[in-house]
Amino acid sequence: TEDALERAAAINRRVQAFLHLDREGALATARALDRQSPDCRGPLFGLPVAVKDNIAVRGLPSTSGSALLRDYRAPYDATVVTRLRQAGAIILGTANLDEFGMGSSTTRGFRGPTRNPVDPTRITGGSSGGPAAAVAAGAVPAALGTDTGGSVRQPAAHCGIFAIRPTYGRVSRYGITAYASSFDQVGCLATDLRVLGHVLSQIAGGDPRDATSVSRKVPDFAAAAARPELPRRIVTVGDADLEVLDAPSQRAFHAAVGRFEEAGCEIRRIGLPNPESSVAAYYLLACAEASSNLSRFDGIRYGHRRAGQESLPTTFRESRTQGFGTEVRRRILLGTTVLSRGYRDAIYGAATEARRQITARVLSAFDHGALLLLPITKVPPRHLADPVPATADYDGDRFTILAALAGVPAIAVPAGERSGLPFGVELMAPPWNEAALFSAAAAFS
Ligand code: GLN
Repeated sequence: TEDALERAAAINRRVQAFLHLDREGALATARALDRQSPDCRGPLFGLPVAVKDNIAVRGLPSTSGSALLRDYRAPYDATVVTRLRQAGAIILGTANLDEFGMGSSTTRGFRGPTRNPVDPTRITGGSSGGPAAAVAAGAVPAALGTDTGGSVRQPAAHCGIFAIRPTYGRVSRYGITAYASSFDQVGCLATDLRVLGHVLSQIAGGDPRDATSVSRKVPDFAAAAARPELPRRIVTVGDADLEVLDAPSQRAFHAAVGRFEEAGCEIRRIGLPNPESSVAAYYLLACAEASSNLSRFDGIRYGHRRAGQESLPTTFRESRTQGFGTEVRRRILLGTTVLSRGYRDAIYGAATEARRQITARVLSAFDHGALLLLPITKVPPRHLADPVPATADYDGDRFTILAALAGVPAIAVPAGERSGLPFGVELMAPPWNEAALFSAAAAFS
């Protein structure tokens, strides 16, 4: 653990993956584990992990990347953290993100960007860029992130590692700072597929503290990763849906499809639900939920308070105006509008109906035991020196948001490189069939 902390600190100077390294807590956990008798050791015994900083770790800063929560410390452990501890993992620290998970770059947190370990002049992607960089740079073998619309899969693809977004309800959200509750799921990132499986198996399972979590038997995903097996059929997209990818990414994606074909999979091509509608539905619904969830940050109960205001409403307004970054404020305004009288049926209702139709389309791809294969990103990670407005990133989520809208599991799998940078693809499965994803990813890798 001493070595891991030292390595993490050195890596952090280069890429700023961690927001907080918990030297004392990690060493105390390690000492307690040393005293454990060997037959009591959990399946993650001694495994150093990083935890995205919107997941509560008791006693540690839990800022969600927001100046509003600059001084906030979590008073309790999230259920996933409790389960990591029970399994013997050692939490090295909290990792960087876009403010409240809103973004695809990890440049929009108040502490500044995380750099891509593969090329530190570039972004990691996001919003779980801190966890992805910590894993890809070798600070930790595994990390927890959250995936609302792609936030573990997209940075994993940009950094060349594995990540899984489980079925909605597979993992408890208790202790996660809510962004969009009907989409948020905790996801895992790792360099090794079996480690990824072990971590997911340990954190998964119903939790009385999260009514949307589901009590179902949790398979041994590491065992699934140890049993490479391809589905008989892979469903993917045709050229029309791939036009938005740059040429090297198109070639890399075709090469990935070719590998499945050579391995004996039957390849079937479908058209995606209209991407403009998917992106619009996702952002309207996510922002509507965010405007409601983030109303708790009022300057009274949590976080930053702008002192010296003459009334309660101005305290609310000024604290929020100072505490939230521009993109978060934009989304709250959009979400509040979507939910307001006169717009609710027209906009929120239409987006909900679009979600229903997209879900039906996604589920129909899984006929005959097929898995769905999609690109993750349109282009390689951009240079940090070329910032773009946050809204320009929305369309880049067109592939990853499908699993989020439909609530199905998806795994990001490294698939070589393009333009000298990591390229990743994602496989999606019907709800509760993460095991098929682990076996297919193992056979592909
Ligand atoms: N980029 C998407 C968004 O900003 C997804 C982020 C996430 O999954 N947290 O909403």
